[in-house]
This record gives sequence, C-alpha cells and structure tokens, in this order.
Amino acid sequence: MSETKKLYVIGWPIEHSRSPLIHNHWIKKYNLNAIYAQKAIAPDDLAEFIHTLKRDECLGFNITIPHKEAVFEAVQRRDVLANKLGASNTISWRDDVLYANNTDGYGFYTNLLDHSDWRKTDQPVIIYGAGGAARAILQAMHDAGAPHIYIYNRTQARAEKLLADLGIQATILTGLTELNECLQQAGLLINTTSLGMNGENDLDIDLSLMPKGAIVADIVYTPLQTGLLKQADDLGLVTVDGLGMLLHQAAKAFEIWFGILPQVDEELRDLVLADL
Ligand code: NAP
Repeated sequence: MSETKKLYVIGWPIEHSRSPLIHNHWIKKYNLNAIYAQKAIAPDDLAEFIHTLKRDECLGFNITIPHKEAVFEAVQRRDVLANKLGASNTISWRDDVLYANNTDGYGFYTNLLDHSDWRKTDQPVIIYGAGGAARAILQAMHDAGAPHIYIYNRTQARAEKLLADLGIQATILTGLTELNECLQQAGLLINTTSLGMNGENDLDIDLSLMPKGAIVADIVYTPLQTGLLKQADDLGLVTVDGLGMLLHQAAKAFEIWFGILPQVDEELRDLVLADL
C-alpha cells in the first residue's frame, strides 16, 4: 500500500482554521489516501518549512495570514493570476518545483453566482476594503466584466496602491458622502474588511440607500449572518455570506491537488457551520 500523502494549511496562528475539516471531508468522500492537517509556522520558520518539504510525502499546502505574500516570494513558479496578485493561498508541485496558485477570487465569484443573479445586473459594484482579500476579489470582479467598480477603504493610500498594482480602472470613493451617493446606484456591495467579525465593529453604512434587489456580500463568516447581512436581510436585499467563499476556494485547491473539483453541498456547509 502506498504511503498516505500529507497536505497542510500553514499560518501563525492557525488554531481556528476550518480547512482540515473541509479537505478531510472530501478526502474521505472520494476515498483518497491523504490527510490534511494544520501547522502553526512562525514567520522565522517559514523558509525551513518550505525547503524541507518532500514531493513524495506532501502534495502541497494552503497558506493563511500572515504568509500569503512570503510564500509567494519563496516558491519557484506561479500561475498568471497569483503572479498578478502577488500572493498565493495554494501550493502544489509542478515538475518537481513548488507552484503557487490563488483560489480566493474564484471562491468569492463562484459563491456569488451560486447565491445571486449578479450576472443579470449592470449596476456598479462597491468593494469595501483594500486588503489582501479585496485584491483577489477586485481582480475576479474585473475579470468577470463588472461594469464599474468603486473602492472604499479607511486608508485611501492602500486603495490607490491596490489599483496601481493591479492596473485596474476603478474609482476610489474618498469619503462617506461619496460612498452614500454611490450606494444609491450600486447593484452589489462587498465587505472585504474584517469589520463585523465576531459580532464586533459592524460597518457603519446605510443599506436602505441601495436600490431594490441589490446584492450585499460579506466575506466575514463568523458569525455567518454579520450585522451587515442582517441589515440587508431586514431590508429585503439579496445576501451572500462568507462561508461559501471559504468552501469554494477550498474546492479549487482540492482540484489542483487531486484533479477532482469536489461538490460544495449542504452537507459540507452544515459540517462547517456546526464548527463555527
Ligand atoms: P487585510 O489584508 O489585513 O485587510 C484588512 C482590511 O480591513 C483593510 O481594508 C482594512 O482597512 C480593513 N479594516 C480593518 N479594520 C478596520 C476598521 N476598524 N475600520 C475600517 N476598516 C478596517 O485582511 P484580509 O486578508 O484582506 O482579510 C479581511 C477579512 O476577510 C478577514 O476577516 C478574513 O478573515 C476574511 N477573509 C475571508 C475569506 C473567506 O473565504 N470567506 C477569505 C479571505 C479573508 P485599512 O487598509 O484602512 O487598514
């Protein structure tokens, strides 16, 4: 019998990762000889972790905060999208060298289409936030042909750098008055910040300004219904929660390692929800 292959999610800290639960569910479902574990790697130990990996033992790994950029820099090859984003969340082997992908944008966009009719709207998109997740989401929405994209971030310089790095034409909203004006036309608002996490520091935003039928997406998934999504739900807007992004980015990573795009179904959602 061949040896069980290993997969990891690495981060610092890593205790709260749901990736082992998700991937081990699929490994069992598809009867694969592999095991997925979490590994706490301090920034100073990252280089050693990467250089001691062996292809015949480990199929690859996922990366979470704070290593997404550092691992990207450390590996030898990257796909076009990861290269553009300057960050990677999934590492696999290609021709005996480590290969970087980024599946976050895929995860967000696939989940958006799963839970809304975004494709049928031609109204502007507002991305709230300009951090690492916003980077992948901005690129995904741009690639999907979003008609006009607006960005709003607490630190405006970071939004400017994001647009410059990606070379994407979008408009930066410089204050709350501009944000409120823009909300009146927007078909989709995406919270890419950590605001609303653990029920704290909700976004200070008036969603009643948004047109009827508009979509509000949050990438925070603890709690599943953030204050932002609750406000949207109470107003009868369409809501897209953050758990689906997590599941779909994982599905794409799983496909990279095993050549199988696993199903993101209610059974898996319930499994992860029970662990939140
Ligand atoms: P990041 O790179 O650190 O960016 C954080 C963003 O949040 C920045 O835009 C930052 O604004 C903003 N922010 C933080 N605190 C704020 C506050 N008090 N007021 C206003 N803005 C604030 O983090 P990230 O990697 O993009 O992750 C962001 C969130 O997305 C995290 O909660 C993460 O768990 C979640 N996430 C979810 C998924 C998923 O699969 N669902 C995937 C990736 C990330 P400044 O630039 O002004 O600091």
